[in-house]
Amino acid sequence: MHNPGHSTRTQAQEHAQQHFAPGAQYIAGGLCKGTSGHTHTVVDPSTGEDVLTYSLAGTADVDAAVAAARDAFPGWSATTPGERSDAMHRFAAVLADRAEEFARAESLQCGKPLKLSREFDVPGTIDNTAFFAGAVRQLQGQSAGEYSGDHTSYVRREPIGVVGSIAPWNYPLQMAAWKILPAIAAGNTIVLKPAELTPLTSLLFAEAATQAGIPDGVVNIVAGTGREVGEHLVAHPDVAMTSFTGSTAVGKRVAELATSTVKRLHLELGGKAPFLVFDDADLEAAVQGAVAGALINTGQDCTAATRAYVQRPLYREFVQQTAALMESVRLGDPFAPDTDLGPLISYAQRDRVAGFVDRARSYARVVTGGEIPKGLEHGAYYRPTLVADAAQDSEIVQSEIFGPVLVVLPFDSDDEGIRLANDTPYGLAASAWSRDVYRANRATREIKAGCVWVNDHIPIISEMPHGGHKASGFGKDMSVYSFEEYTQIKHVMFDNTAVARKDWHRTIFGDR
Ligand code: NAD
Repeated sequence: MHNPGHSTRTQAQEHAQQHFAPGAQYIAGGLCKGTSGHTHTVVDPSTGEDVLTYSLAGTADVDAAVAAARDAFPGWSATTPGERSDAMHRFAAVLADRAEEFARAESLQCGKPLKLSREFDVPGTIDNTAFFAGAVRQLQGQSAGEYSGDHTSYVRREPIGVVGSIAPWNYPLQMAAWKILPAIAAGNTIVLKPAELTPLTSLLFAEAATQAGIPDGVVNIVAGTGREVGEHLVAHPDVAMTSFTGSTAVGKRVAELATSTVKRLHLELGGKAPFLVFDDADLEAAVQGAVAGALINTGQDCTAATRAYVQRPLYREFVQQTAALMESVRLGDPFAPDTDLGPLISYAQRDRVAGFVDRARSYARVVTGGEIPKGLEHGAYYRPTLVADAAQDSEIVQSEIFGPVLVVLPFDSDDEGIRLANDTPYGLAASAWSRDVYRANRATREIKAGCVWVNDHIPIISEMPHGGHKASGFGKDMSVYSFEEYTQIKHVMFDNTAVARKDWHRTIFGDR
């Protein structure tokens, strides 16, 4: 059978094996091998073939990476915003030059369609890099004044030091970029642990930083397990801040460890985004939006549409049309140009997703999907799935599934729709669909989430913050708001009187 994606995949695989022959760790400006004594094999989830076996990092590698970051900090933090901006503009240019290489590596390790890597992950990362190249020049403390009458005050905004970051596997390149870019733009240095399943593009990203002239040690990557390398990085005494993106369960463990060493903490955790369709909505737009918003990245997206609440008059039509549109989405080889949807990240994740759907069969109705697609059993594929008739408090409505599964529920009054939308522990993202500006505006005010879209679901932009409310975490990625995480402010106070006995010394010396 002719397979149009075959040669592109083979090239990407050969490239990965050659490129990472020196090792899959990036410490002090170069690739090296991990010293844990264990290996991990990156597997292409669309075929089950091995892509690369690499030596995992151990705690000694974390120590070496943190030492490199600590050594690089004084020099990097002393550069001017203009110098860092120049370096990051060069960084964006290197990424643009190497865009196709990055897109192929991302698709290979994740199984995501090449069109998604080419049109979303890689351009988004280049844009983010260019954004921070500009934003760093606006980084400032508040200029202040003479509040006491006897002093001049101002506020300095300073980098924090060595940042330890941990990233998930769903958007490995973008997650690495969202962590690394604001941190280094603000003058910090960083050690990032990618998910061990997907280290390739984080390593390429660090290498591109070096190619752009960013000094050795400013960006380091340690690819190891969460238990060993992740925990050691979070607990490390020379790491001043932990920035974590991943599940809420692991986020809680990370928070405990970070608290024990009183670290600055930024947590981007799970989501279960509601998709709220009022009865005056454009039904066709809502159906298109629900399918695209639920299936993006095979549903492995923390902001994916996962719970559609549809007002009763539109409910039946919405269910029928959404199921039909889901069935038209083309699953296949991520490297083939006509593929819309790739596999899940791994067989384990596919089975986990299937487990949620199988358990739901006893209390809900699987309208479409709910199975491994015929002819694609060799990969970690799962059919786009729509589930109806589930109770609000059921597992499929409440838990993050992280796969191509949308659950749909009816509602009657606007009050009820908004209440149901808010009725999970998560609060990362949501959307409201209506042509009535007052209804939509009410939903944006009352839904508790870090982002609420109106008549769309998913788009992100570098200029705007991304981050959760409630159990989805705290702190922001992207935008100038991310500088609040990666900087600390200092009050500086100058005496203006030039006298030895200050007025306030009365409190110590009395009336002498
Ligand atoms: P995960 O929590 O299992 O793992 C995330 C990272 O933490 C990985 O690098 C992993 O190795 C590491 N880790 C695991 N155990 C650890 C420990 N004990 N100490 C330190 N590090 C540890 O998540 P995942 O399965 O890789 O990714 C999916 C999750 O990520 C979903 O819950 C999703 O919602 C979330 N996510 C959130 C955002 C966001 O912006 N809020 C973005 C993407 C993904």
